[in-house]
Amino acid sequence: MTIFNLGSINIDHVYRLSALPRAGETLHAQSYAQGLGGKGANQSVAAARAGARVRHLGAMGLAEDWVLDRLAAAGVETAGIARLPEVATGHAIILVDAAGENSIVLHGGANLALPADLPRRAGFAAGDMLLMQNETSLQAETAARARAAGVRVLYSAAPFRIEALAAVLPHVSILAVNAIEARETFAAFGEDLPVEALLITRGAEGAEYRDLRRGQVWHQPAFAVRAVDTTGAGDCFAGWFAAGLSRGEDPPTALRHAAAAAALQVTRPGAGDAMPDRAEVLEFLK
Ligand code: ADP
Repeated sequence: MTIFNLGSINIDHVYRLSALPRAGETLHAQSYAQGLGGKGANQSVAAARAGARVRHLGAMGLAEDWVLDRLAAAGVETAGIARLPEVATGHAIILVDAAGENSIVLHGGANLALPADLPRRAGFAAGDMLLMQNETSLQAETAARARAAGVRVLYSAAPFRIEALAAVLPHVSILAVNAIEARETFAAFGEDLPVEALLITRGAEGAEYRDLRRGQVWHQPAFAVRAVDTTGAGDCFAGWFAAGLSRGEDPPTALRHAAAAAALQVTRPGAGDAMPDRAEVLEFLK
């Protein structure tokens, strides 16, 4: 049983400055750090560290092999990542000022130029699972092919766009949204969604899983921790939750593990690099 993840791969370039530059202004950064990011890569790393067999489906440019090394070191299979000539690897230029305020420029690059035969070549088999977020091309095509092969599709509707959600919704098994995305989803489509289940995360207020077929709801409080960086918390939760379901855990068990993993993740700086492994989560829950 494999978790496929059709997902973005981004390099995060983080610059700290005393103030954000105004138009026409040039400023020296006080520090620079480079990290692995993108909602897709984050979820792949989270699910692999949770112990699942994860095959990432995506694309990047020809440079920056360290990105593949970093994914592989986390246990993610990278053979399904196409290398595209003359296309930039997706990246984010993140400027952070002294007060922690940020400005971000995102370039989708290779994430939005996926090879058209990717869904056909993915190798889906009945019983597998497909994760998706909203930072790549080919979402509806890949989800449709996966569902036809008997694969459960967990879609994180972020960054939120109504048109993207409308296009994939007929192929989604489990829809994952945060509190803001849930409100926008219900406003557009109502609460009686054509999916098997709904995963709603509410930051420090926890999460809930609604099995719409059985009419059952499970609530999971967040664990109290001192958060230093909540970037990637939702991706950590989604990756861990998917890993739990894929190993046959019931929803309350998968929710508890995911909440513990996300609690650990927010106590560390970074996104993909901050995902905890299974041993850390089991120790935290002792
Ligand atoms: P997103 O990053 O997609 O907006 P959320 O903010 O809802 O997602 O966070 C996802 C999950 O991460 C929450 O359900 C919770 O379990 C955990 N989490 C987020 N922020 C905190 C926090 N400050 N303390 C503890 N857990 C947190």
